[in-house]
Amino acid sequence: MLKINKTEFDSLRRHGEETYPHECCGVLLGQMDGDARVVTSVARCGNTRKDSPQNRYNIDPAELVRIQREGRGRGEDIVGFYHSHPDHPAQWSATDLAEAHWFGCSYVITSVEKGKAVLTNSFELAGSEEKDKRLMDEKIEVV
Ligand SMILES: [Zn+2]
Repeated sequence: MLKINKTEFDSLRRHGEETYPHECCGVLLGQMDGDARVVTSVARCGNTRKDSPQNRYNIDPAELVRIQREGRGRGEDIVGFYHSHPDHPAQWSATDLAEAHWFGCSYVITSVEKGKAVLTNSFELAGSEEKDKRLMDEKIEVV
């Protein structure tokens, strides 16, 4: 399960509206609470995919390292990632699975239709290696 407060939830959905018709992307920071990932802050990232930003995203590894380091300074770990699907459903794609490498993290996808955020779904990257990894539906609790 992913627990996120309304401010952060609204922020990541709005990010997808702002970058429409391109995909937005960002990082979810927080802590584990039992089986739940609790988001305490959201870091917006630039989408570095210039070739196909309307249906692909990539976070600059240097930006990710910086976000991780700054998060640790506040006692936060990376607990997930988010991106948007402009004019596509809030379901993961084969590419999303192929490019997901953070086991035990949440992958949040928001569908943005004609510039308006519609559905937001979250998926946990389960498994322990590339061979058996899978994205599983998980509940989002907005608190
Ligand atoms: Zn995607």
